Amino acid sequence: MTYTPANLTDLLSKIQAVIHDNVEFVTSLDLELGDGDHVYNLQRGLNALIGIAPELAMLDWANAWQKMGMTLMSTVGGASGSLYGTLFIKMAKAATDTNLDSAGFAYVFNEGVAAVKQRGKADLGEKTMLDVLIPVAQSLQKDVESATPFELTLDKVISVAAAGLESTRDMLATKGRASFLGERSKGHLDAGAKTAELMIATIVRHLQAQSTAPA
Ligand code: ADP
Ligand code: MG
Repeated sequence: MTYTPANLTDLLSKIQAVIHDNVEFVTSLDLELGDGDHVYNLQRGLNALIGIAPELAMLDWANAWQKMGMTLMSTVGGASGSLYGTLFIKMAKAATDTNLDSAGFAYVFNEGVAAVKQRGKADLGEKTMLDVLIPVAQSLQKDVESATPFELTLDKVISVAAAGLESTRDMLATKGRASFLGERSKGHLDAGAKTAELMIATIVRHLQAQSTAPA
């Protein structure tokens, strides 16, 4: 089974449904720490991506990620729009001339996450989406180096993302709006980490369902 951007139509609507089911929860988190708009920013971006899914389906991954990144940059307000935009645009750049097998994807995703760190001037432990994205990127890379079978890598990504999310609970926020709260930022999950975890788990389950589906 090869994954092409033609899979995005189905995948994006699955992500949209999961985010929809979590609107209240994510908003409650974001109202503790931010301005409460994160999930709506994300929904605006997802709607825009679904709108261009037929065009994305005609492209290779590098061009699809480039277009997705540009679309997110221009439709999503807030920090998360430019951060996810940066993720995809950097992945697009890294994917040019890269064979997108599991090692190639791990490389491309790590490049994307490194660009998000740079863009947000943030790193692990600052109570942001990066507390999910960085451990997932590291786990993918480690599994490539140890030649772990891809099915195991996928299972691991789900638990690594969940652990990353949970790690934000007791962190002190030092980036974004939540940083204005100081010590009061402790005790709540970060909204952007929650949506990152939801989206990653949905992508993994989509890939798992595809690899077990009859050809
Ligand atoms: P804004 O903070 O501009 O209102 P959103 O509400 O869309 O943007 O997104 C907030 C989320 O973005 C946070 O929960 C956090 O996960 C993430 N975030 C904010 N600032 C940064 C940063 N500098 N680096 C990485 N992630 C960040
Ligand atoms: Mg916000």
